[in-house]
Amino acid sequence: MRNCIYCGAPIPEDRHKNAWTCTKEHALLLKKEREAANYQKVRNTADPIIRLREHFNGLANEFGFEVPFDLIYATPLKIDWSLKTGTFFKDGAMGVALGDIGYIIYQPQSIKIFKL
Ligand SMILES: [Zn+2]
Repeated sequence: MRNCIYCGAPIPEDRHKNAWTCTKEHALLLKKEREAANYQKVRNTADPIIRLREHFNGLANEFGFEVPFDLIYATPLKIDWSLKTGTFFKDGAMGVALGDIGYIIYQPQSIKIFKL
């Protein structure tokens, strides 16, 4: 005898054999709960990206888009360099995208911000 993973009640014999829940209602509630959990997960990962995008947008308002400036002004310690929504290519270099904004690091330590 297996139990409903939503409420713990025994799953009736007449439910199909792959059923994880005691009723269709509980299957639906379980699905809703999982969707809500997934949404929360997406939000939790999206927020740091939004904040970082705002940081770069602020820098671009100060220094200009496509204007190289010293990385030190980007307060690199505040930046999580692993965050990105994708990559892009500009002038033969690969950049990191944060939604509609992107940046490219140039050696030794300058950075350019792009409107994508
Ligand atoms: Zn149930």
